[in-house]
Amino acid sequence: MDFIDKSIEDYATAHTSLETDYLQELNRETHQKVLIPRMLSGHLQGRVLSLLSKLQAPKHILEIGTYTGYSALCLAEGLAPGGELHTIDINEELEPMSRRYFEKAEMQNQIIQHIGNALDIIPGLKQTWDIVFIDADKSNYINYYNLVLPQMNKGGLIICDNVLWSGKVLLDNNQLDEDTRALKQLNAVVQADERVENLLLPVRDGLLIAKVL
Ligand code: SAH
Ligand code: CA
Repeated sequence: MDFIDKSIEDYATAHTSLETDYLQELNRETHQKVLIPRMLSGHLQGRVLSLLSKLQAPKHILEIGTYTGYSALCLAEGLAPGGELHTIDINEELEPMSRRYFEKAEMQNQIIQHIGNALDIIPGLKQTWDIVFIDADKSNYINYYNLVLPQMNKGGLIICDNVLWSGKVLLDNNQLDEDTRALKQLNAVVQADERVENLLLPVRDGLLIAKVL
C-alpha cells in the first residue's frame, strides 16, 4: 500500500533538498547489486533523518540495521563535531559496500560498524545515545526499544522505521503474521509509554519518533 499518491510524493521529493552525490550513487549501486533494494531509506526519508539529526546535533547515534549504509550516512550528517555513529548489521556480506561509501563520504572516522546480532552487541556499547534508529528485524523492535531506552539521554530520539508495514497494521488480530503482530505491539507500547512523547509520521512505510522525556 502506498500511503501518499505517487504524484504528490514525487512533488514532495522535487521540493526537498537534494541528497549528496555519494548517496545518489549508493542508491543506484544498491538497486543494481543488492537484494531487496527497497529496504534502503531513499531520498525523501533520508532527508527526514538528516534534518532530525541536524536539529538534534547528536554526539552519539546508534543505528540498528545498516544494510548498505544509506540511512547511516544521512543520520551522520547531523553529528556534533567529534560525534560518533555506531551502526550494527548481522549480514557481513554488506559490510565492504557500506564501508566503501563511508570512506567516500569521508565519514569513516565518525562511523563505527559492528557486525553481528544487535541483541548481543547493544549491551556491550557503553555510550548514552542522543538518537537511536531501529531498522532491523521487526520481531525484535520491542526488545531493541526496551534495551536502548535506559541508555537514552534526556531529549533523545528513538526513531523506528516501517511501523505501518505497508498498511498491514490495520489488519485484525487473527490475520497477523509475526512481524505485523510485533510492529502493532510496538506501536501500542510506545503510545502507552509515559517516558516518551511520540509521533507516528506516515512518511514512506511509517516512521515512529519517540522523544525521551
Ligand atoms: N537502515 C537501512 C536499511 C536496513 S534493512 C536504510 O534505511 O538504508 C534491515 C537490515 O537489518 C538488514 O541489512 C539486515 O541484515 C539487518 N538485520 C536483520 N536482523 C538483524 C539483527 N538481529 N541484528 C543486526 N542486524 C539485523
Ligand atoms: Ca527500513
